[in-house]
Amino acid sequence: MSRPRVAVIGAGWAGLAAAVELAGFAELTLFEAGREPGGRARRVREAELALDNGQHILIGAYRECLRLMARVGVDPDAVLLRQPMNWHRHGGLRLHCPPLPAPLHVAWGLLAARGIGWRDKWRLSRALETLKRQGWRLAEDCTVADWLAVHDQSTALVGGFWRPLVLSALNTPLADASMQILANVLKDSLGAARADSDLLLPRHDLSALFPQPAWHWLAGQGAQLRAGCRVRDVAFADGAAWVDGERFDAAIVAVAPHHAGALLDDAALRQRLQLLRYRPICTVYLRFGQSLRLPRVMTGFAGGTADWLFDREALSGERGLVAAVISAPDEAILALPPAQLVARVLDDLRRLQPTLPEPLWSRVLVERRATFAAVAGLARPGTRIGVQCGYLAGDWVDSPYPATLEAAVQSGVNAAHVFKQDWMKQKN
Ligand SMILES: Cc1cc2nc3c(=O)[nH]c(=O)nc-3n(C[C@H](O)[C@H](O)[C@H](O)COP(=O)(O)OP(=O)(O)OC[C@H]3O[C@@H](n4cnc5c(N)ncnc54)[C@H](O)[C@@H]3O)c2cc1C
Repeated sequence: MSRPRVAVIGAGWAGLAAAVELAGFAELTLFEAGREPGGRARRVREAELALDNGQHILIGAYRECLRLMARVGVDPDAVLLRQPMNWHRHGGLRLHCPPLPAPLHVAWGLLAARGIGWRDKWRLSRALETLKRQGWRLAEDCTVADWLAVHDQSTALVGGFWRPLVLSALNTPLADASMQILANVLKDSLGAARADSDLLLPRHDLSALFPQPAWHWLAGQGAQLRAGCRVRDVAFADGAAWVDGERFDAAIVAVAPHHAGALLDDAALRQRLQLLRYRPICTVYLRFGQSLRLPRVMTGFAGGTADWLFDREALSGERGLVAAVISAPDEAILALPPAQLVARVLDDLRRLQPTLPEPLWSRVLVERRATFAAVAGLARPGTRIGVQCGYLAGDWVDSPYPATLEAAVQSGVNAAHVFKQDWMKQKN
């Protein structure tokens, strides 16, 4: 049986996952608008450094990411630093889950937590227990803020635990964020095996984790890779997909949601996409002339400007390099000139080291549409476009997760499987 010709449009983590999953089954052509693969999780070169377009973290529950990394020849243990859940906020909550079997690791971590009183420990464990007892199921329109109010979470707990957690995981303010999407993340991490809640911190730039190895692996599998090639139109007619006029047996559209509407002539999809709102993420890099070691590779500051600071020297060996992440920054932060934002992050760092000199170099990277807002009641489109031989992939396509690497990779794998099933059915 001849192999189907499949076009994958977009070589972010979703498109690459779809292609890797289809290798051997289909004759693949990948179209990528950028010069390199990786999309919103890729390497950028600045001042002779291999940085990321934004600091990322993964967790142990990212099974599909880890599986596909291994499939293209990457050893996850070599490129990621694995640590038991380690919540360290300078001047605030410090919670470390020891390497005990679940759920003892969380119970012990909570008991031994510092920076909160016994009453708050009790409130937090009772809230998590309630979520678990109700099977991690909530009303779709329930926001995190509403749920926290009903479950009696104090101001200290909201500020020290829930707010940074929700911003890191959902990149959406608590007042709008979906409690169901947060519960899905909690279920698969804190509510699952101990290793699932491990933090996996990149030791290499993001392109080296998956996009670049996947790209080379696909080339080795005979896929046609067209980088620097922006597709203008995807149409479906005569039982085929037409990508800028070229015929394929199917097309998987794996672009970001704000690009999908323009590519596809699909009124229902466009209507859905118009309902999506986007949230920025800001990463501030600072490089000092001396080693600067943070208390933990990922350290937060109670009342700081940055949500988390990452010790890139400890992670990747770049001397004196720190990355500060500000999730869902408000307009006031976005309006600051870069030098002022750097000065505010420096203020955070000087709480640790008061004599810290000015950085030798700094850079502010803002991704305006880093993620869609994971708001309560959000309806995400499914994998099938609605016409035969058209499929969607991307972190925004139907998934229990917020906009994350795992949602992107799962969606790509899913699109590949749905296409394979359709193709086999059609041929039998
Ligand atoms: C700053 C930042 C921090 C983040 N932090 C985390 C984190 O800590 N943990 C986590 O799990 N997730 C994080 N995320 C989210 C994660 O990066 C995304 O969910 C994921 O990368 C999305 O992948 P994707 O393949 O769905 O989409 P994209 O990465 O957007 O890929 C789409 C690709 O399509 C290409 N394209 C678009 N239009 C066309 C066209 N017409 N023709 C051809 N190609 C086209 C684009 O160039 C792009 O390469 C973060 C995102 C950002 C921006």
